[in-house]
Amino acid sequence: MSHVIHRSLREVPPVADSAKGIFIRDSEDNAYIDASGGAAVSSLGHGHPDVLAAMHRQIDRCAYAHTSFFTTEVAEQLADKLVAQAPPGISAVYFVSGGSEAMETALKLARQYFYENGEEQRSVFIARRQSYHGNTLGALAVGGNEWRRKAFAPLLMDVPRVAPCYEYRGRGEDQTVDEYTQDLLDELESAIVRAGPEKVIGFVAEPVVGATGGAIPPTPGYFRGVHALCDRYGILFIADEVMCGMGRTGTMFAIEQDEVAPDIIAIAKGLGAGYQPIGAVLAQGAIVDRLRQGSGAFLHGHTYVGHPVACAAALAVQQVIERDKLLAQVAKRGLSLRRMLGEAFGKHHHVGDIRGRGLLMALELVHDRPTKSPFPASRKLHAKVKEQAMARGLMVYPMGGTIDGQRGDHVLLAPPFIATTGD
Ligand code: PLP
Repeated sequence: MSHVIHRSLREVPPVADSAKGIFIRDSEDNAYIDASGGAAVSSLGHGHPDVLAAMHRQIDRCAYAHTSFFTTEVAEQLADKLVAQAPPGISAVYFVSGGSEAMETALKLARQYFYENGEEQRSVFIARRQSYHGNTLGALAVGGNEWRRKAFAPLLMDVPRVAPCYEYRGRGEDQTVDEYTQDLLDELESAIVRAGPEKVIGFVAEPVVGATGGAIPPTPGYFRGVHALCDRYGILFIADEVMCGMGRTGTMFAIEQDEVAPDIIAIAKGLGAGYQPIGAVLAQGAIVDRLRQGSGAFLHGHTYVGHPVACAAALAVQQVIERDKLLAQVAKRGLSLRRMLGEAFGKHHHVGDIRGRGLLMALELVHDRPTKSPFPASRKLHAKVKEQAMARGLMVYPMGGTIDGQRGDHVLLAPPFIATTGD
């Protein structure tokens, strides 16, 4: 009997009792390798002494101060660090407590920017059919995950959607990668024109798709094309790096590898690496300048914005990543992981695709490899993969869904950056 509303209302999961390095131990002393970092969160593994020490220091010094009265040294330092690492032009940071809040904040910041710019008629976000942006109402509305949205559909704003950049299933056999990419960009342009460019606020996308599709990197040039279209029509490009950001793909921001500087970036998960709940929205200076010169305030706010202990944890995580040169390790270990997955599953008849970037990797599961036909819809498949992995002392993140009427299942892997390959 549990009074907690767990993910499944029908069963209570094992009790996590302790965690150190790449392992979590349950109350029956079973150890699990955290190969999914929870849900791509625990980038430094568990119990990292430097992060714990930084949190202790901050708790002793000042555990909480509300941002309507004070700023803190640690929040300022973290913002400075994020800006220093961010794509060109990003100069402002708004702290929140997680990924959905970050996306909600990003949408509101984009809207307020146009509102203060005298463009009140702009109210439309365009997003992709294959996407997950969070579970709060705004973030859920832009996300494309049908089963998450269905029950809440009457509460959600209308969002025109375009095809995801999903080469494994989307590119025709007779198409080159460039032709496929151009088709996607043409579709986005048509969606902008159909909505009326003067009504569109922005285009929202995950640079590397995480939960709804499984570690899908874009084709070369896709995001450069997206950015060019956004510029041409005067709309904002909002990158959701909640899962793929903060070093997970081998660069601090995944979009760096696509040589694009978004207008707004949402981050969370790896920012606090699970030590504290924290997310952030990073914005181009011009966006925040418009608000500064207009109303003088961002019309938003939560009680725990810029929580000092969360900022201390996130700052320590960033310092460890820099000091231990972990970004280079992620790139290197990502290649090793890809090679090992290829050796183990490259010819498996139920593995259609092995893909990802850095240490955000996935296997796409198929019923029949040559035809790419998926398994019939069933949550049992995911439950079984998870259960079998847990029984062997391994945490992986199986998921699935329907995109463009086509089902897909995958197993996500997001091991801590400190994991070693043994070679
Ligand atoms: N955006 C992306 C890309 C995500 O993967 C997630 C969570 O998985 C979210 C937003 C929502 O983040 P949170 O669960 O912290 O609210």
